[in-house]
Amino acid sequence: MKNKLVILIGPPGSGKGTQALLLADKKKMTHLEVSKLLEKKFLGTSKEDIIKIGKKEYSLKEQERRWRNGLLCEDEFVAEVVRESLGKMQKRDDSVLLDGYPRTVNQAELAVPSLLDFYKQSDILVVYLDVGEEESLERNKNRRVCSLMRHSIISLPETKNLSICPVDGSPLEKRVMDDPETIKVRLREFREKTAPILEYMESKKITVARVDGVGTISDVFFRVLQETESFNI
Ligand SMILES: [Zn+2]
Repeated sequence: MKNKLVILIGPPGSGKGTQALLLADKKKMTHLEVSKLLEKKFLGTSKEDIIKIGKKEYSLKEQERRWRNGLLCEDEFVAEVVRESLGKMQKRDDSVLLDGYPRTVNQAELAVPSLLDFYKQSDILVVYLDVGEEESLERNKNRRVCSLMRHSIISLPETKNLSICPVDGSPLEKRVMDDPETIKVRLREFREKTAPILEYMESKKITVARVDGVGTISDVFFRVLQETESFNI
């Protein structure tokens, strides 16, 4: 299982976060969460810090400002941060689980060339957690987060009676931003911007495994494992 890359993609409410934690743990993969990667990148940056990509210069402070204001960082900048991080992974033997990236076809177009610098096509697997919009909506309506690490707990029969986070034991709170309209917007964004990545990846001869994301956490996890194991991960 040396040096493989799994890219996990799923709509809001697909349980992607939970499956990512399980998979990384079970398969001893390095879990690369791009939002956390950016957060780390921004730690202790000063006004003068720039990243040069091609001929263009990107101010870290400016990217941080966008990020903190809920705007997306520029695609080229994120691609470079991911590339840098994947480069470091090459010195280790563990496979990598890429979570939360790419989110748009444009990001994928920027990401794939550098992914292919580090991995053979046959070593990259995209796992898509397939959950219908009705189901997503229902699960998201009752989503909670833990107060300590903000682990997201979606609404499933086996999480319904939880009052503390199964990972760190902190109390769960309801996520206020998740009114149905917000969720519908996020689902639409996913459908229009993120889902087309799957076809793009296939056009680049990268394997996409579509996994039925409906069922209990362990049902879905077994399906995910079937796919990764048939990929020798
Ligand atoms: Zn937690």
